[in-house]
Amino acid sequence: MACPMELDLVAFAKGELTPSEQEKVRQHLPTCVDCQEELDAVEELFGGIAALPSVRPSADFAARVTRALSADPEYAKLARETRRPIPHGGKRRPRGV
Ligand SMILES: [Zn+2]
Repeated sequence: MACPMELDLVAFAKGELTPSEQEKVRQHLPTCVDCQEELDAVEELFGGIAALPSVRPSADFAARVTRALSADPEYAKLARETRRPIPHGGKRRPRGV
């Protein structure tokens, strides 16, 4: 059965809760198997993410993505509808150009 406390265990694991919220979780954890298991899963996930190698995109990555998007009629239509210009290599064009 899911815990009715609805605690933010992700924020807890990341140390992003206020001290009083953090204390609330600390007091609740020993009393709730659901939250203990959830926190274990969150910490295992974070550990897995931390263990991943870092990846550097190639120098032309943004340009290749932009080219691929520009060639997609659906994206071009969406860009027109939202009035957002298709990005050019991550650089913004000045207004009116
Ligand atoms: Zn709980």
